[in-house]
This record gives sequence, C-alpha cells and structure tokens, in this order.
Amino acid sequence: AIDFAALKHQMQLRKDKTQTSYLVHPLSVAHQLIVIGKVRNPNVMIAGLLHDTLEDTETTYPELVERFGRATADFVYEVSDDKNLPKGERKRLQVASARYLSAGAAQIKLADKWDNLKDTLHHPPLDWENHTIAAYFKWSQQVIERLPWVNANLLQAVQDVIQNFYRIKTL
Ligand code: ZN
Repeated sequence: AIDFAALKHQMQLRKDKTQTSYLVHPLSVAHQLIVIGKVRNPNVMIAGLLHDTLEDTETTYPELVERFGRATADFVYEVSDDKNLPKGERKRLQVASARYLSAGAAQIKLADKWDNLKDTLHHPPLDWENHTIAAYFKWSQQVIERLPWVNANLLQAVQDVIQNFYRIKTL
C-alpha cells in the first residue's frame, strides 16, 4: 500500500512553502491511526495509506478492489470527495455526510483532519490569508463534530490542534 500510494502521488506536492512530497500526508495519517488511534484493523490501516488516491490521483475504485479488496476500497471511497462537484458543494457534502460514515472511515477522517489542520497551523499554504485559515478550521470542526463517536484518542488529538489554533489566534 505504501508503494502504491508512493507511485500514485509521486508527482504531487503539499501546499506548504517547503513543497513537501505529498506522500508524507498519507504516511502521517496511517501513523496517527496506528500509534495514537491504536487501530489494528488492517483494512483501516491500509485505507489510511490510500485515502487520497481516489480523490487526488487517477486511481479507480475497481483498481483498489482488485489490489486491496472491497473492504479497504470502500473505506477509501467513503472518505473521498467527488471531484466532479464544485468546491463549495464538496465542502457542504462533507459536513452533511459525516454522520453516516462507518467506524473505519470516521477514524480515517479524524486522522486526516488532524494532519491537515496541524499542517495548516504550522505551515499554512503560502496563498492563504488569516481569514482563509480560520474558515478552514471552522469547516473542519463542523465535519469532526458530526462524525460518529469512534475513537477517543484520535478525537482528542484533533481537538488539541483546534484548541492550539484558537489559543494562538487570541494571543
Ligand atoms: Zn488526506
């Protein structure tokens, strides 16, 4: 799964100023699931590594089913936005559909939001102004609040990042 994610994301970079390789993100999400979330379901761990392949690369759902099985492919599908929709609609749908995620997908979503918010807090994309960052935190929080209660450690980790953001903001 690491090889597959590395291959699929190989030309992609994160949006921060150091232009980190995109692969750092799925690796960090899988690490968070395993070390902080104590997740031991292999389908969830593998889906954590693959979670952005459907949304951000040319990978297809049948390809994931063939390589990693239906359970893993379904978790990836559950946490993927439909890139055919406009950005605002995708964001609205993430909030509206959060409550319907399976336990496995909700855990991946928590680890994903944790890594994205942590990156945004410490290394925001160059073209993001303060109000864009604040709106991103607010929207992420709306998604997180609606997720089914699945993993206290993963929830705590992402809430800590959100709290840090508001603490720095009021300093
Ligand atoms: Zn992600």
